[in-house]
Amino acid sequence: MIPVSKPFVGEEELEEVRKVFQSSWLGMGQWTKNFEDQLKNFLGVKHVIAVNSGTSAIHLALVCCGIKNGDQVIVPSLTFAATVQAIVATGAEPVFCDVEPDTLNIDTDDARRRITERTKAIVPVHYRGYPCDMEKIENIAKKNNIRIIEDAAHAFGSKYKGKKIGSFGDITCFSFDPIKIITCGEGGAIATNNDQVAVLAQKGRILGISKDTWSRYRHERAWFYDVETIGFRYHMSNINAAIGIVQLKKFDEFLRRRIEIVKLYDENLRNIEGVKLLKIDYDSMAPFCYIIRAQKRDKLMQFLKENSIDTGIHYIPNHQQTFFSKYSTSLPVTEKIFEEILTLPLYYQLKDEEVLVICEKIKQFYS
Ligand SMILES: *Cc1c(COP(=O)(O)O)cnc(C)c1O
Repeated sequence: MIPVSKPFVGEEELEEVRKVFQSSWLGMGQWTKNFEDQLKNFLGVKHVIAVNSGTSAIHLALVCCGIKNGDQVIVPSLTFAATVQAIVATGAEPVFCDVEPDTLNIDTDDARRRITERTKAIVPVHYRGYPCDMEKIENIAKKNNIRIIEDAAHAFGSKYKGKKIGSFGDITCFSFDPIKIITCGEGGAIATNNDQVAVLAQKGRILGISKDTWSRYRHERAWFYDVETIGFRYHMSNINAAIGIVQLKKFDEFLRRRIEIVKLYDENLRNIEGVKLLKIDYDSMAPFCYIIRAQKRDKLMQFLKENSIDTGIHYIPNHQQTFFSKYSTSLPVTEKIFEEILTLPLYYQLKDEEVLVICEKIKQFYS
């Protein structure tokens, strides 16, 4: 069976984790700090706060913006449930909006229409790694005095108008869970140029404890702490950071291969009746997944499965989920697209021959 996704980790990651074991400091420490410094460099941003998941990054970012009960947060329904759960966890109400059919990114006109006096933030998702129209989103945010928290879980390493996602926005959240382009095992990060947000996030990720985070391992009055603000146990451990440090070094190689695979899919699926390709930008995009719009999607999925090819559906719209149904609204594009989207295998070790077999099987299905 060819899986949809697969992490690429091995001896080098194990070697770095071994060093953490030998140091006897498994929790947050020097590896976490080093990973943050390397991420700051990579992204070109002032602050990076490493946390234990992408979900906690989004939740913490919202809390740092003061999002609370009674507020509204605009979010596309077509995203991982994590984005919406992070909003709901603050007590705020998610306001679902539609997406563009060719990118699956937030439809900015629809987002604008859904703004009320209670709207406090907007959470665009850079779907597949394809950057959202940040200029339009920034204009909407400025005009209405609302915050932007980017869900860049798919977009680590992607660029918007030549600038890395995470380098220029208000607050950007990344995920390093096992299927993302680089992984920490589990992990996430907040990137921001906003000093105030950075201070709040640094405290908030570790129980609201205010002292200089890093004095904990410098052993200066190691017993002293003061709880100053709301906080969570969201910090990233040395073990996870060690994996991330090694993965980050491989990013360029991961990206090069992913682009090759995506190009191969594009070339071979372009002229199939029944298949629509989504917009892709090889120069600016770090592709997280490869999604097509397929007629008779469920039958195609079944056919591919019978031919040892696993596929996925990213995602079931959140306004159709039981727990979020009270926030449901009419989203015609999302609802139509959900019937068509199919995620094909995309991961570093996927071979050209395998991609060609997948494309051949899809052709066979429609002929
Ligand atoms: C992976 C993902 C998240 C959450 O990240 P975790 O690290 O799994 O908590 C949020 N949003 C999107 C779009 C994702 O794909």
